[in-house]
Amino acid sequence: MTEQPFKTKRFSKYKTTAKRSAVMSKITSKNTKPEVVVRKLLFNAGYRYRLHKKEIKGKPDLFLRKFNTAIFVHGCFWHHHNCHIGHLPKSNTAFWADKIKRNLVRDKNNIAELQREGYRVLVIWECAITGKNKLETNYLLEKITHFLKGSENMEAITGEK
Ligand SMILES: [Zn+2]
Repeated sequence: MTEQPFKTKRFSKYKTTAKRSAVMSKITSKNTKPEVVVRKLLFNAGYRYRLHKKEIKGKPDLFLRKFNTAIFVHGCFWHHHNCHIGHLPKSNTAFWADKIKRNLVRDKNNIAELQREGYRVLVIWECAITGKNKLETNYLLEKITHFLKGSENMEAITGEK
């Protein structure tokens, strides 16, 4: 069975590829969320994946069966990355710190569990995709490809200063 990247309820009603891609381009031209950037980048490079696969711990943003790899695109604020986007707000700090700490614990457990189950995990941080430290698109793709075709179990891609 071949992977169907658009096999979501949202796209299943569009029967023809032409119509679907017209719809896709309309959506993606205004949708610049980091997760969507990664999807587009990989799809255009010929990679096929499933989105938010329930059966995989942590419902990774992308799952590439061929490479046995779960990809998480992490927002730097919500997952508390140590970078210019990841800082806690000055007000209500305790509230945010507590909320984010729970995310961190969950992330850690999910990744550990995935590795125990033999999956490979790639975390792509938001700052690699947007903001002042973002990577050049081809370089980002190169890094992702390098991981997919390599043999590391775990890697994180971040922005560069
Ligand atoms: Zn970051």
